[in-house]
Amino acid sequence: MAVQVVRADSVADAAATLAAEAAARFVAGGTLIVRGYNSGNVPIDKMVLSDGLGLDAVSVQGGRAEIGAAVTMAAILANPELAFLTPVASEIGGPAVRTMATVGGNLFARSPYGDLAVALLALGAEVTVERADGTTTLDLEKFLAERASEKGVVRSVAFALPAEGAFRFLKVMRRHPHGASVLSIAALLPTSAGKISGARVAYGAMAPTAIRARAVEEALEGKPLDEAAIDAACAVATEGCSPATDPYASDWYRLNVLPVHLARLLKGA
Ligand SMILES: Cc1cc2nc3c(=O)[nH]c(=O)nc-3n(C[C@H](O)[C@H](O)[C@H](O)COP(=O)(O)OP(=O)(O)OC[C@H]3O[C@@H](n4cnc5c(N)ncnc54)[C@H](O)[C@@H]3O)c2cc1C
Repeated sequence: MAVQVVRADSVADAAATLAAEAAARFVAGGTLIVRGYNSGNVPIDKMVLSDGLGLDAVSVQGGRAEIGAAVTMAAILANPELAFLTPVASEIGGPAVRTMATVGGNLFARSPYGDLAVALLALGAEVTVERADGTTTLDLEKFLAERASEKGVVRSVAFALPAEGAFRFLKVMRRHPHGASVLSIAALLPTSAGKISGARVAYGAMAPTAIRARAVEEALEGKPLDEAAIDAACAVATEGCSPATDPYASDWYRLNVLPVHLARLLKGA
């Protein structure tokens, strides 16, 4: 079936179209959805383009970052104010993919993709979505849990800037440098008086979407980041995980190597 490609006049206009037409889909970089359409796996009769909707702005001020949904991985890498995200964005696909792949699209990417979403979950990001009935802001964790039924347009993600050195990211791949994740781990480890205060740890490829590792967070909270705390965290590393078996790794392998890589991340290795 032929597909109609349209530009919307505004984000609200795009959201109204998506809500009204079941086979209309929003297209940002198109690295996933155009592939899906071409392979016949995603039935679409209308593509609503993100171009010209003003979703590509980045604002870093007052200790917060707000990143527009149409900002690409390449734009993140080019922005020195977002340098803490370099280890994440630089490992998403190759240069051609990073030029197209957007922040908003990454929130919908199925596991084992969605590496930026893992980082944003650890950073405590909120997502602002334009729906047919107005604009709403929700916690990324809730957004990810409900994303399959989302009909709105993501405008942006926003989060508090991490303190210097408090954010860490690790991606395990079988094919370097541009493979999909065997698993990924992002951790926000702020300290107060030498102890972890406000730990947030997230995993990618360990469940159908990015997930929080709450048992790990609890094991670290209030402790200095020493061997005892790291051992305690690694002992509960796999709690809440339900990884898939896919061409990159088996569920068994993912569960078994996760504690090893968590220890490496926490030790700063
Ligand atoms: C060769 C290759 C390698 C890749 N490697 C990685 C990788 O290493 N890590 C990784 O995380 N991903 C990877 N990806 C997947 C993908 O490129 C990224 O996840 C990318 O961020 C998706 O963004 P996009 O703009 O291309 O999404 P699109 O394909 O445009 O859209 C994907 C989905 O998100 C929806 N969507 C997009 N933007 C919005 C919005 N603003 N509001 C509402 N819905 C929206 C679309 O409707 C669609 O359902 C790879 C893809 C390819 C083809």
